[in-house]
Amino acid sequence: MDLIDGAVTRAKEAFDVACKKTNEVVAVQKQKFEAASLESRLSKDFETLGRLYYDVQRNGAMAGDGMETVMDAIEDKQAKLAVLKGEILRAKGKKICTECGATLPAESLFCNYCGKPVADTDEVEVDEAEPAQAEEAQPAEPDAPTEA
Ligand SMILES: [Zn+2]
Repeated sequence: MDLIDGAVTRAKEAFDVACKKTNEVVAVQKQKFEAASLESRLSKDFETLGRLYYDVQRNGAMAGDGMETVMDAIEDKQAKLAVLKGEILRAKGKKICTECGATLPAESLFCNYCGKPVADTDEVEVDEAEPAQAEEAQPAEPDAPTEA
């Protein structure tokens, strides 16, 4: 009986370890997916910004809050993307120099490229207190007076 119980326990332990590893892999895959999705939304934001700029330059539209809103949304996404990329690298045992952006081994204390001390990614300050979320970028209304 003890023999069987022991085997069951060992099997369960092995199963738990496998699950943990799978969960880690899934977490990284999820982060990669989120990063890719952020990147594609960033491209769309830049496209929107370009279109707004075009309207201002060529169609005499007023540069309104629309462009500001899109730029805010871009910066918001870029910040999130930077955090995500840092997490993905850390999962791979690497980190990014906060000074020059070089990719370094996770155990590095100083950057191989710029020589600056490299903070542990865990200690990198992430501003959790986000300002009120900007609305998703809306294309600015063309500045045409609308007659009733
Ligand atoms: Zn550096």
